[in-house]
Amino acid sequence: MTSVNFDPLRIRKDFPTLAQTVNGKPLTYLDNAATSQKPRAVLDAIDSYYEQDNANVHRGIHELSRRATIAYEEARGKVAGWINAADPSECIWTRGTTEAINLVAVAWGLDNVGEGDEILISVMEHHSNIVPWQMLASRTGATLRYIEIDDDGRLVLDDLDALLTERTKIVAISHVSNSLGTINPVKRITEAAHAVGAIVMVDGAQGAVHTRVDVQDLCCDFYAFGGHKMCGPTGIGVLWGRRELLDAMSPFQGGGEMIHIVGREESSWAAVPHKFEAGTPNIAGAIGLGAAVDYLSEIGIEDIEAHEREIVAYAMEKLGAVPGIRIYGPTSLDERSAVISFTMGDAHPHDISTILDSDGVAVRAGHHCAQLVMKHFGVSATARASFYLYNTKEDVDRLVEGLAQVAAIFG
Ligand code: PMP
Repeated sequence: MTSVNFDPLRIRKDFPTLAQTVNGKPLTYLDNAATSQKPRAVLDAIDSYYEQDNANVHRGIHELSRRATIAYEEARGKVAGWINAADPSECIWTRGTTEAINLVAVAWGLDNVGEGDEILISVMEHHSNIVPWQMLASRTGATLRYIEIDDDGRLVLDDLDALLTERTKIVAISHVSNSLGTINPVKRITEAAHAVGAIVMVDGAQGAVHTRVDVQDLCCDFYAFGGHKMCGPTGIGVLWGRRELLDAMSPFQGGGEMIHIVGREESSWAAVPHKFEAGTPNIAGAIGLGAAVDYLSEIGIEDIEAHEREIVAYAMEKLGAVPGIRIYGPTSLDERSAVISFTMGDAHPHDISTILDSDGVAVRAGHHCAQLVMKHFGVSATARASFYLYNTKEDVDRLVEGLAQVAAIFG
């Protein structure tokens, strides 16, 4: 149950983009797993940085640089608090989840994974959590192994102990699937991985958005997430890592800001987190994400989660009654986050999305960067409705009304 103060209609007013019509109909935005809309507070924080404090960070002694640096580092503290990191220095700014995963695959992977070693991922992963590991495996001679999924879109963990061997160096797993909505038992996987001496990287692109994340409680070693799906701007994300791992790692990219001393032949590195932040960072992005964390914290992630659960329960019931629909992913609400992927008879998901769009309803259609999931279910694409704090049951009703038109056209 959400608290009495949680009011999605009031929340909607904070988001300028939601107050528009699309194709003559009020916008129903159900593409939140791709990216969320941005509240006024985030837009204002970015504007205010550019209008009043714009300067490069860490390098200047002057007032604007001092202000920009304070805001930028304060934002690091905010994202650290969002995931309960022990210290803000464990949070490295990246361009997004994808870059955070690539950072680990390169900077940790090339030093720690060798021929004959194994990397364990799952069939459920977003391409961002597959391709960097394939690249690492091909550069090092390591083997990539997969946790399979069942027909309810859950990880098959019965043979986890057999998949994990003393050769397994890293397990990379999504917290929440973007294509199926499945919430994965990360802690269970972490415990099993640690028992064989492997470390665990969590792709939290859809996790840190919808649920309280406590990286210390999850006992993982790396956790990656991005700003743009949680009310923040694009082009900014976070890699959280355990301090001792980050300290021991080689840098990811070389350049200004990440060095201690530069000599003719070689250089030494700055301390964490700056060792991983070569070049001028996305200062406005970090400040915007900090503002997003403030905004979401004020509302409360528990209330957001409870609200989304209510919307998903309603949507599962209403969508489940649409003739010809097939919904993918877990049926249990305890195992499902705010994503519903579906197909409808012979209607191609692109046609479903086009018909819905003509009614002002925005959903995504395609493989959702999860081609292995599509392959498992024998489809090339699905339509996907994904919900967030500002969605209402009326949004679900409009989706279902739109699908009635799809049924009328495709029979
Ligand atoms: N992993 C998952 C589960 C995702 O949903 C996404 C975004 N669709 C990503 C990784 C990649 O995130 P980004 O595009 O922000 O780098």
